[in-house]
Amino acid sequence: VAATVAALSLSACGRTEETASGAEEGFEDGAAIGVALPQKTSENWVLAETLFNDGLKEAGYEGQVQFANGGVSEQQNQISSMITNGVEVLIVGAIDGSQLGSQLQDAKDAGITVIAYDRLLTNTENVDYYVAYDNFKVGQLQGQALLDGLKEKKPEGPYNIELFAGSPDDANAQVFFDGAMDILQPEIEAGNLVVGSGQTEFNQAVTQGWKAENAQKRMDTLLSSNYASQELDGVLSPNDTLARAVLTSVTGAGKALPVITGQDSEVESVKLIMEGKQYSTINKDTRNLVNQSIDMVKALGAGEEVEINDDESYDNGKKVVESYLLEPVIVTKANAAEAYANDPTLSELTK
Ligand code: BGC
Repeated sequence: VAATVAALSLSACGRTEETASGAEEGFEDGAAIGVALPQKTSENWVLAETLFNDGLKEAGYEGQVQFANGGVSEQQNQISSMITNGVEVLIVGAIDGSQLGSQLQDAKDAGITVIAYDRLLTNTENVDYYVAYDNFKVGQLQGQALLDGLKEKKPEGPYNIELFAGSPDDANAQVFFDGAMDILQPEIEAGNLVVGSGQTEFNQAVTQGWKAENAQKRMDTLLSSNYASQELDGVLSPNDTLARAVLTSVTGAGKALPVITGQDSEVESVKLIMEGKQYSTINKDTRNLVNQSIDMVKALGAGEEVEINDDESYDNGKKVVESYLLEPVIVTKANAAEAYANDPTLSELTK
């Protein structure tokens, strides 16, 4: 009876599942946990490094946290070393989630539980869980913010806009773009939004490597070819780093600043939002994402069930990955103080 009651109360606050890959027996305190992070393409990754190091230590594990600044093959090698080092769990923020197939097979063969962190691991059976902010929702919030910002600036359309997407090797980039287009496409079809360059496809909008210089270069070209004699009213930007690159380009061209979206709540962008220069960002508090991942590690270590709250949204091409999705929050100047109230660094900026 006690077991039934426990199961019922657990299912009331979130679905639970059997632990995967033979981790039912759990593992010892002091066990090694590998965390493979990508390049430092935005502040959230840098924050994650310290949070994982401190959080895993506090939970009694030996964290092995590594960035792969050199690219995919460096990340493959790091993961292989972590497997050789005998990690019990691998937490992977992939550069390219489709390029780790053989390493993840090795992990599986070694009985290691694999958690995809922030970015999905694709085209493999060998991923047990996914922990992330809901990426499609992020895109929808960005699309809606762009529309809201445009209407605040000028009550009547049509509005001239341009679309930017993230790096095509990051599975999130397509999902952010699809989420945004879910909101924007009907407005484009209705003629209320006009993409001046005509570049409305993901492949046309991508920014290789999430690199600021690539977004800036593309914006320079778009401005000189399409906006010599008309205003650019808005830009969909998938994150803050790229939003600032686009604003740099627009300023360089001597044009008025467009309404522009972002993501990540980076310090420099929160400042721009408070100055009225960037319209929106997304709050995806890295502390919560890391804590959720460490909670999974703790459950696995204790041989307990891992809590998930979604088992239908993230299909990686081989299976639907059991996920714990956190809610992203849209932030504009209007709600910044409230949104960052419990973040000591960012709340200072909203005063
Ligand atoms: C993350 C974003 C980040 C981007 C570039 C994505 O996978 O979800 O938060 O802006 O990578 O680093």
